[in-house]
Amino acid sequence: MSLEKIAVVTGSNKGIGYAIVKGLCERFNGKVYLTARDVSRGEEAVKKLNHLGLQPLFHQLDINDQESIIKFKDHIVKEHGGIDILVNNAAIAFKSDSPEPFEKQAEETIAVNYFSLLRVCNTLFPILRENARVVNVSSSAGHLSRIPSEDLRKKLSDASLTTDNLSKLMEKFVSDAKMGKHQDEGWGNSAYVVSKVGCSALTIIQQRQFDNEKPFRNISANSVHPGYVDTDMTSHKGPLTIEEGAVGPLYLSLDNHGLKGKYVWCDKREVDW
Ligand code: NDP
Repeated sequence: MSLEKIAVVTGSNKGIGYAIVKGLCERFNGKVYLTARDVSRGEEAVKKLNHLGLQPLFHQLDINDQESIIKFKDHIVKEHGGIDILVNNAAIAFKSDSPEPFEKQAEETIAVNYFSLLRVCNTLFPILRENARVVNVSSSAGHLSRIPSEDLRKKLSDASLTTDNLSKLMEKFVSDAKMGKHQDEGWGNSAYVVSKVGCSALTIIQQRQFDNEKPFRNISANSVHPGYVDTDMTSHKGPLTIEEGAVGPLYLSLDNHGLKGKYVWCDKREVDW
């Protein structure tokens, strides 16, 4: 088993995740895992980085598939023992002109961007090493102010909110959407917003759990808005390059910032959530 430090980025065959892997390969003193749900897309991405003289490792990882996450975890435990940096980058967003009914968009977006994120964390957190960094890629859409209802905002930012209760709120959004009453219930009209607010709320809870359960391990969890980036997700409308989109996640992963449980923007600014 190698004793080298290990970084892992989910959904890193393209877009911002790919640029985070690239930046980690350039700056991190350890091994970097490029992961992808599709092996051929992942291996293509590794080849592209190899052409730049960079040597990421590859492993299949579909965040929607518990078996895939467990296989990945077992591989890491066997080969390296643990993880030092975990960047939860993989996510989806329906296009604004998607013909998919809103209730389907709500169900799938919350399933991937919130519940699959949670699934990855629940499975991989036990193998985080001391001083590990967790970076959850959120969005400006993940700012609490994007939820219209004051009552919901209070619940989502309650200092005693648990993961179970946050998950129940996410489930409630999906069931409200199925009944066509999500706007009346104060969620607004974007499933992506709710999923990313869930991501940032989860990050705060995760930090509290790290601090309460094992403070000596000095693990940090922060969420980050990468900026509006030129990727498939934005139909290439974002002005930032993927390398610029990786600046915030790389800052939280590598720099000596001391931030814990915070919400940070692409310019490295800590923003009041
Ligand atoms: P892309 O759509 O370009 O890339 C998304 C990546 O996630 C792809 O590699 C995709 O894999 C992967 N992915 C999706 N579902 C899964 C899954 N089930 N398991 C594993 N991987 C999966 O998006 P971006 O690079 O733009 O976005 C990266 C992150 O940044 C996301 O969290 C997004 O919400 C966030 N963000 C992006 C912004 C932007 O302007 N681009 C703005 C704010 C936040 P595949 O190729 O197989 O589909």
